[in-house]
Amino acid sequence: MTYATAVHEAVAALRTIREQWAELLLAIEEPPADVWPPRQLAHTMGVRHDEQLVVADQAPLVLREHPAPLNLTALDAGRAVERMIFDLADTLAATVQRADRSDPRRWTFPDPGAVDSRRSHGSRAHGLHFACVWVEGRLLDEDTAPEKQLDGTFAAPPFEVLPPHLLHEARRAVRIAEARLLRTLGLDQRHTPVPAPCPWCGGELELHTVAGESPRATCATGVQCLAQVPLDERGRRLWEGDDLLTLINALSAMEYGHTPFSA
Ligand SMILES: [Zn+2]
Repeated sequence: MTYATAVHEAVAALRTIREQWAELLLAIEEPPADVWPPRQLAHTMGVRHDEQLVVADQAPLVLREHPAPLNLTALDAGRAVERMIFDLADTLAATVQRADRSDPRRWTFPDPGAVDSRRSHGSRAHGLHFACVWVEGRLLDEDTAPEKQLDGTFAAPPFEVLPPHLLHEARRAVRIAEARLLRTLGLDQRHTPVPAPCPWCGGELELHTVAGESPRATCATGVQCLAQVPLDERGRRLWEGDDLLTLINALSAMEYGHTPFSA
């Protein structure tokens, strides 16, 4: 693997973690999600509260109180992801950080002896988003050129270029953290049987999810299935986008004893 590829993969994983972090924080406060309907459709279905997403990504889990988390698996995963990214930032800072104490770009280590709890957590107190952005800056060798001062002289840069062995360690750590997060949210690549028959033919439905893509569902019956949706490359009826919402509505109508033909 080239150096550039490793940087690209690690940065992509960090961005996925940042994008999905609010989802994880919401998941902690909700009972574990059912296979059906897929979590990714929660926005469209109106059960997601967007204002919560804004609030969600501030304080780190280590500084939060969770009086009654509804999803302990999500809480455990969140704490593990935080720990991996925070520890990684510590490791990178210990090697490449030269910034002086007043520089806001500096990553500060936890200080267990400090009196106030925010200082005792160092930069961890700024939360996971900050840590991901900080690690990304080191992966991209930001702020590693000498900096011109007001008096025209040059000062040593706040960070050194990341050595290759640390890049590979960082890539490995962030990909493990990303995989844990996506798996917890059910957003990793998987094919899951839908616990209800196809409303149009009684066939077996399957839900397909891939990280970063919209979920899809298929009916195993094939062209004989009467659903008015296209066929996929394997000849199965395929629901995606708005069609998937139609399928969700048809399945919930079935729970009340209706079929698409009697609606
Ligand atoms: Zn069908």
